[in-house]
Amino acid sequence: MSEPTLPRRQTLKQLAGLTALGLIGYLRAPRAAAANPATPVAAIPGVGGKIVRRGEKGYEIWRQSMVWHLSKPKRYPDVIVQARSTEDVIHAVQYAAANGLKVAVRSGGHNSNGPSLRDGGLLIDLSALEEIRIDSDQRIASIQPGVRSLGLVQAARDKGLTFPVPHCASVGLGGFTLGGGIGWNYPARGGVSTHSIIGAEIVMADGRLLRATAKENPDLYWAVRGVGPGFFGVVTRLDLKLYTAPKVILASTYILPLAEVKTATAALEKIRQAGKLGHTEPLLVFTHHPEAPDNAPPEQAKICFVTIFAFDESEEKARAALQPYAESALAGSKALFKAEFQPFDFEGLYDRYFSLNDPAGRCARYAVDNVLTNRGAETLHALADHYSKAPTRWCHVLAAFNMGTRVLPDSCFSWVADTFVGCYAIWDEEKDDAANFAWLGDNLPLMDPFADGHYVNEIEARGHPERYPACFSKANWNRLQALRRQYDPQGVFHSYLGHS
Ligand SMILES: Cc1cc2nc3c(=O)[nH]c(=O)nc-3n(C[C@H](O)[C@H](O)[C@H](O)COP(=O)(O)OP(=O)(O)OC[C@H]3O[C@@H](n4cnc5c(N)ncnc54)[C@H](O)[C@@H]3O)c2cc1C
Repeated sequence: MSEPTLPRRQTLKQLAGLTALGLIGYLRAPRAAAANPATPVAAIPGVGGKIVRRGEKGYEIWRQSMVWHLSKPKRYPDVIVQARSTEDVIHAVQYAAANGLKVAVRSGGHNSNGPSLRDGGLLIDLSALEEIRIDSDQRIASIQPGVRSLGLVQAARDKGLTFPVPHCASVGLGGFTLGGGIGWNYPARGGVSTHSIIGAEIVMADGRLLRATAKENPDLYWAVRGVGPGFFGVVTRLDLKLYTAPKVILASTYILPLAEVKTATAALEKIRQAGKLGHTEPLLVFTHHPEAPDNAPPEQAKICFVTIFAFDESEEKARAALQPYAESALAGSKALFKAEFQPFDFEGLYDRYFSLNDPAGRCARYAVDNVLTNRGAETLHALADHYSKAPTRWCHVLAAFNMGTRVLPDSCFSWVADTFVGCYAIWDEEKDDAANFAWLGDNLPLMDPFADGHYVNEIEARGHPERYPACFSKANWNRLQALRRQYDPQGVFHSYLGHS
């Protein structure tokens, strides 16, 4: 193939936003709410941050801003507290416990189920807790839970360090790390980011502030490393292990027709079998061709968009890491487009591949479900035909290969898997909810037969609360429930959505 058949910059830019189309809703609502507090309300002793109660002016905009996307849950907490300090969190929890208010927690607000919004009770919004301290000698970042992906990557990079942060700049580190976390350059970082938590500070149901490390409160340390959106405490600080920052980031992108999915997966499998995946991060996305009209026939519009990222200490090494892909069938006669060995910095990666900037300026409704599997290719083959019937052009299926997740004795993350496959429904209007949830739901029986497990941060729990136990081994789920009873006997904290 000589020349790309599509203008490269335009193609990549248009494909940006595949997993994230709600910037406007996200950016406007939370920040406006924080800057324009509601009318003064009854104080909570010891809490300095803003408080708004149901029925008061400003409540609804603040409530809605707790969830990034536009499928705002119709669930209404009694009180929302924006914490300005750990002390605020302690006092808010004590107040809730004393007044019979169940506590929910929000960090970055990106979870698709909006689990921070519950009916009744008190919601603690941690998004204003954004401190980052870097200890270069120890290679540790000590962060508050409101820190976002871009903030940590930039602060660490200034010291020559990095962390496997979320692929979108604004995703919160709080929920991301607690749930597992598939971060940039995961293959070189031990699979999931939660395993890079080396310490946590936790406000417990009785208001005590406990520290959890491998040595202090090891059962809490085990739980915090993978528990996801159902923890029985508020994490107010995380100590994260940092890694040497890459000096060079290169990406190669290949587009094939959807009908060539087996060509794409076979190419990736061949590279894997040859032991040449190295630390590259290969993503394969089923999506709608950016230049095709909405109503174009699937056989023309639906594509496999494959990108492989190499993070390395030199250009020579990064090019060598991507070379097996350039020599594979991905780059062969079936390719509609290729752009190889493209240099990026992290800002460029967010912008080109996972930007929240939807080119059309749309907001989005959003739902996702997934499998973690060791049969990624088969999973994709099983999903391809159903994907081509997706109700909107923005719906997509994303597979992250070379995951290398591990099961560790000091983490409740439960699965050994080499591939994550997520199905994402993205649409505009409430009237289309049923069609999109139906499309997403119909993916489950297609992909679940290949599941070794599920990733707790990206399941569709609104219709399927039974997915939460399925995100853990039976033993780990039972141990989490036992720890909940031990540490939160009065049920001060909400459990997983749909569970008590
Ligand atoms: C655009 C977009 C991009 C994404 N990219 C990635 C990605 O690259 N990799 C990946 O793995 N995932 C990704 N995700 C999924 C993401 O990891 C989850 O949505 C995660 O739950 C978001 O965390 P949050 O703090 O923003 O969410 P929130 O909605 O604020 O939190 C979700 C829940 O987690 C719990 N929680 C959060 N913080 C705390 C705390 N401090 N203490 C106790 N419990 C807490 C609470 O139960 C809370 O309700 C993405 C999601 C979106 C929408």
